[in-house]
Amino acid sequence: MQPGAVLSASEVLTAEARRDVEHAWNRRPFNVYAATETAGIAAECGQHAGLHLFEDLVITEVVDDEGRPFTPGEYGSRLLVTVLGSRTLPLIRYGLSDSVRMLPAPPCPCGRPFLRIGGVQGRAEEALRLPAARGGDILVQPNVVHRAMELLPLTGWQVVLDDSGITVYVAGLAELADTGQVARRLADALALAGAVAPPVRAVRVPAVSRTALGKAPLIRSVRGGGEHPGRGRDKAADTD
Ligand SMILES: [Zn+2]
Repeated sequence: MQPGAVLSASEVLTAEARRDVEHAWNRRPFNVYAATETAGIAAECGQHAGLHLFEDLVITEVVDDEGRPFTPGEYGSRLLVTVLGSRTLPLIRYGLSDSVRMLPAPPCPCGRPFLRIGGVQGRAEEALRLPAARGGDILVQPNVVHRAMELLPLTGWQVVLDDSGITVYVAGLAELADTGQVARRLADALALAGAVAPPVRAVRVPAVSRTALGKAPLIRSVRGGGEHPGRGRDKAADTD
């Protein structure tokens, strides 16, 4: 049986996941971006070229760390959302820690007037702060890690950065597959992104750990006496 449409929400929709969906169901998935606090924020139209903001429901601003507006086309540090229909609990310029970019204004061929956002890189707290090859620090965006892990023969993964290095917890890794290969693949991707990666090791686990709400955070930093303050929030949907 073939579904009429396939929607993807809650996690980053990677290029590989798109291909898998198309291959399995012969349908291009519609990427949907939402959060528990706001419900829907944006969704792809049939053009699959960015996600139209639901501007009649939510005012969405892409801002930097200080809350200043970001130039269209560049990834911001977070989003401020104002929900127009929420009367019981008004949300006004409420911060979401997702890194997204607003697409420049030319209208979408579908005819909808709503502005579009391009990729959602993932939660800002999922970015890994690592020493940079050229000195100083670099913030490695989650999509770098996603691309490295996506094609491996496993059913689940979780990358944890702590003071001892990076541990990749892998679930469902084929028995014959090599955890060393998993670790090398991630280390190579981080090096390619310009980071001097700390030691990377991969460990087999029966299943990756989940939050009380059932989500499995894919990338966590637990360093210097505590997790990122943004961690622990649970969102209904984030996308690429
Ligand atoms: Zn459109």
